[in-house]
Amino acid sequence: MIDLTIVLSASIFNALLGFIVYLRNPKAKVNQLFAFFAISVVTWTLSNYLADNAQAYNLLFTQLTFFFGAIMAFAMYLISNYFPSGRGVNSTRTIQATTLALFLTLLLSLGPWVVTKVTKAQNGVDLHLGPLYGVYVLFMLYAFGMILSNFVRHYRHEGHKSRAQVRILLTGVAIYAGLAIIFNLLLPVVADNWSSSRFGPLFTMAFVGFAAYAIVRHGLLDIRLLVARSVAYTLLISTITGLYIVMIFVIARRIFDEDSVLVQQVLPIVAALFVAATAPYFKRSFDRLTNRFFYRDAYDPQAFLDELNKTLVSNIELGILLRRTAGVIQQNLKSESCFITVRQTDERPFRLLGTDAPKFKADQLAYIYSQMAEMGQKLLIADDVKLEHSKLKRTLNSGGIALVSAPTGYEKDNPALAYLILGPKKSGNIYSKDDLRLIQIITDELVIAIQNALRFEEIQSFNVTLQAKINEATEQLQRNNKKLQVLDQTKDEFISMASHQLRTPLTSIKGYLSMVLDGDAGQVNEEQRKMLQQAFISSQRMTYLISDLLNVSRLRTGKFFIEKAPTNLATVVQQEVDQLRESAKIRGLELNYDQPANFPTIDLDETKTRQVIMNFIDNAIYYTPSGGRIDVALTNKHKSVELTVTDTGIGIAKKEQHRLFSKFYRAPNAKRARPDGTGLGLFMAKKIIVAQGGAIIFHSQPDKGSTFGFSFPKK
Ligand code: ADP
Repeated sequence: MIDLTIVLSASIFNALLGFIVYLRNPKAKVNQLFAFFAISVVTWTLSNYLADNAQAYNLLFTQLTFFFGAIMAFAMYLISNYFPSGRGVNSTRTIQATTLALFLTLLLSLGPWVVTKVTKAQNGVDLHLGPLYGVYVLFMLYAFGMILSNFVRHYRHEGHKSRAQVRILLTGVAIYAGLAIIFNLLLPVVADNWSSSRFGPLFTMAFVGFAAYAIVRHGLLDIRLLVARSVAYTLLISTITGLYIVMIFVIARRIFDEDSVLVQQVLPIVAALFVAATAPYFKRSFDRLTNRFFYRDAYDPQAFLDELNKTLVSNIELGILLRRTAGVIQQNLKSESCFITVRQTDERPFRLLGTDAPKFKADQLAYIYSQMAEMGQKLLIADDVKLEHSKLKRTLNSGGIALVSAPTGYEKDNPALAYLILGPKKSGNIYSKDDLRLIQIITDELVIAIQNALRFEEIQSFNVTLQAKINEATEQLQRNNKKLQVLDQTKDEFISMASHQLRTPLTSIKGYLSMVLDGDAGQVNEEQRKMLQQAFISSQRMTYLISDLLNVSRLRTGKFFIEKAPTNLATVVQQEVDQLRESAKIRGLELNYDQPANFPTIDLDETKTRQVIMNFIDNAIYYTPSGGRIDVALTNKHKSVELTVTDTGIGIAKKEQHRLFSKFYRAPNAKRARPDGTGLGLFMAKKIIVAQGGAIIFHSQPDKGSTFGFSFPKK
């Protein structure tokens, strides 16, 4: 019973694998040969079992076992010739010779020359060997020798990856051949006991498994899932059958009477139910076990994409983005390396970043990309590159590149912005169809992230240029400002110098005019007096103007000083009013001032204050149409003294008022009334009054009149 379980499990397993491998690629020679080989193994296994157990036909099945054994060796020999690439290493003559040897051996094995007779033994049968048994062994040894030498030859000539495949297959062959020769040929002869040959089928499983695995790793096939599942199912069937047998035949027979109803009818049902109930558990366990073995490089695509997206979204600096993304891809796909390249343009350099130092050069990449474009391929898989593209294949292999992926939308005339380059999987497995699908998605997402990063880079570099431009402009402004300051200073110095120069001749003009007016140069008639008066007023105005200019320039150069002395303000005001009376009279204005008696003396800078008073009255004269009146009042209040000049003139619009007292400011109505003003008088007035601790008085109503003045607190 145990023998039957072994035989059935091994047969199912081997047949399944043969079937799967064949279906995967029915046109490939290696796959066809593998299927042929798997069938020969199954037939050999079955006849081997029947040789021991088919009562009447023991001899026939024993001979068939030898027959199929030879076919099996021959199939393996053929595989060894073509595996893994499909190119043979033996000459046609060698193959023909081996085929001939096979036919002879097959003929021998079916006649009485290898096995003449079988006799029933305790465990199966004992063989009586024929005279040509040695020839059979010789053929088998020859076949195994050829198999080994072929594999060695392939091993020498193939690339890194194929070598790994040959190595695996070779390991399988070695284990199988070793065990088979020991248990099926040597031990039985030496010990004269054929019972050890019952383990033969087990070795075939190991061998077929190895062979299938070797093919699994081959680039063109992706049958891992199916292999894993066949292994799981075989294990499941064997276990369940084993359990069933153990329950019914071993336990039940020992404990109960073999012929009882319980054993005959109830127990099989109980056992079947038990098996049915436990089957899912076993299936899960075997699935898990096989998954672990076959999918060491498995990953959860969703988790992978999530991690990738997080990396893509959270990094905007291109260098970091590329390096981190390459790391995530490499870790998840368990590749040996991962690189990302970004195309060069006029504005930016070519980038190549990844998990490692690349084994390829930029010009090799350019060659690979151009080949991809030529072939119109978005995805280049090194293993799938046809032999006629030998240069491309070499470039990929020497660069350790297993796969190159370009984004969707890439065409011959529209080169890709970025490429994803992957090294081989660490496990040696190939990239599965699912991997490739995922890689395509990743590449597309990657390109979008790279575009964003490049935009960010552009903005950043634009910022840098902008900053540089601003700095440059600022420097220019600062330089110009310095120049302006120097010019301004020169201007101040010039005004100051000119004012000083103008003042001396003006004083003499004023002096002489006043003397002539006073009659010192003889009698002046009324007409002459009027003219001279006009000339005197103008020169007086000029004196004040010059004073203003001087004071302004003193303010700027820090040479504006207040020199206080006890001053009789009442007389000062009187003198200023007297000075301007003539002027007012000419313009048809009434100018009133009542000099207060016993007015206290105050500490003031007399010259400067005099100028302020003069300015207030002078403005009132100019900005009051003829027929108006001007009242100058000096009042001694409880806590302060106060001077006001009130007119009935043009006044100042509300919205202009806040700008009075600033340098050069002149209201529009004032400009019309008197085009030649300077806008300096009020500005200086405020400076002078405030500098002496006083305050300006001002209120005005447009078209009604204004009041200008100042107040000083009494000590
Ligand atoms: P200027 O009289 O040379 O224009 P000021 O500094 O003395 O310069 O006066 C500044 C401005 O104040 C004048 O242009 C005018 O608009 C306004 N202003 C001054 N005094 C009067 C006034 N009595 N009536 C109306 N506007 C005045």
